[in-house]
Amino acid sequence: MIIAIDGYSSCGKSTIAKGIAKELGFIYVDTGAMYRAVTLFCLQNNVIDNNEINEFLLKKYIDSIHISFVFDAETQSQQTYLNGVQVEKEIRGLEVASWVSPVSKIGFVRQKLVGMQREFAEHGNIVMDGRDIGTVVFPNADYKFFITASAQVRAQRRYEELKAKGEQVDFEDVLHNIEQRDLIDTTRSESPLSQASDAIVFDTTNVTREEQLQWILNKIQQS
Ligand code: C5P
Repeated sequence: MIIAIDGYSSCGKSTIAKGIAKELGFIYVDTGAMYRAVTLFCLQNNVIDNNEINEFLLKKYIDSIHISFVFDAETQSQQTYLNGVQVEKEIRGLEVASWVSPVSKIGFVRQKLVGMQREFAEHGNIVMDGRDIGTVVFPNADYKFFITASAQVRAQRRYEELKAKGEQVDFEDVLHNIEQRDLIDTTRSESPLSQASDAIVFDTTNVTREEQLQWILNKIQQS
């Protein structure tokens, strides 16, 4: 079974997806983490230099970028690895966030990651979150959810998350980053963020995390 969860940045997709995976015993794949890992690679290897992405260089390196996920029993959370190195903290910071949408617009980056995402589904039941899961990666997914929430509420949630991790951030910067990513993600020519015609839409603006998960689980269990 494939459950696709798409939607805007920071609207609770990954919390919902992790909860479903835990509840139903499915594999969870955070595709945003994969785009973030490629972006971190670009920052670490001078592919992003002088405020520009060197697409020629990135194309040369793309097949040497390996991304994997490992479940850490101690923290009970999934950790992202880039070429064998755990990068969970690095990929969540504002520098990666400010470059990830421009990197995600690049066609050959998407092709590479979509291929990897389809391979994950060969290993069992899966819940995957992102922007194009129900439209491009798995257009025949068994369940498709499209999650929304107001930009202010999303920024507040992300701001609190970053502060809790000890990051020094400004609320206005977080809000600006979310609005910028929404704009790029919805208007890019390659697989823009859009709602699949058969997706179930869920606005989480006024819904707590626990209620969000329960709402989705009810939808899955009802049908
Ligand atoms: O989900 P998250 O906010 O971590 O995603 C980071 C960025 O990665 C998004 O803003 C988007 O630009 C890109 N992304 C994408 N397609 C996906 C998942 C994420 O383009 N399937």
